[in-house]
Amino acid sequence: MKRGVLIVLSGPSGVGKGTVRKALFEEPDVDFQYSISMTTRHPRDGEVDGEDYFFVTRDEFEQKIQDGEMLEYAEYVGNYYGTPKSFIDDSLAAGKDVLLEIEVQGALQVKEKMPEGAYIFLTPPDLQALKERLIMRGTEQPEVIERRVHAATKEIQMMANYDYAVVNDEVPLAVQRIKDIIKVERLRVNRV
Ligand code: 5GP
Repeated sequence: MKRGVLIVLSGPSGVGKGTVRKALFEEPDVDFQYSISMTTRHPRDGEVDGEDYFFVTRDEFEQKIQDGEMLEYAEYVGNYYGTPKSFIDDSLAAGKDVLLEIEVQGALQVKEKMPEGAYIFLTPPDLQALKERLIMRGTEQPEVIERRVHAATKEIQMMANYDYAVVNDEVPLAVQRIKDIIKVERLRVNRV
């Protein structure tokens, strides 16, 4: 059986990765799996354990790292975020395509291990747009927003390490561009 295609959607915090990913999975013709991440951050209002993230304690997360259960992980603005390895391995081995939505440090770790994947960098039209988006979202304190914008200025420099860059000017357009990239990737690995 052919292995599935690994799609890594990454980019700076606040660029709208989560929004674009959710819109992507609402499309009727989307037939790939989403890898649910693990985090030590507290759930935001409306977030569901096992759907948005697996929410765990720092001790639990560190145990998973020690047990070799994480494909990648990063400490981002004071919390751990990571991708459980077994879901990815099982899905790809079963021929299913999987999408990861993760920040830049983690995406680069995955690229080292799985260079055959499709690496997509979602970029804001400009940094001011990104800051406004974080303020509008209203989920973070001003100090955290500043830290995230600072992280984003560094993260944008990593764009050159990716296979594709998608500007998130309008969500439906970004979704369409990502769907087109996935079609190309499936053709590239001869699966269509
Ligand atoms: P948030 O706290 O806004 O949900 O996520 C913060 C950042 O962590 C976002 O850039 C998000 O894409 C990233 N992230 C979510 N899951 C993972 C993961 O499994 N690994 C890594 N490295 N980053 C993640």
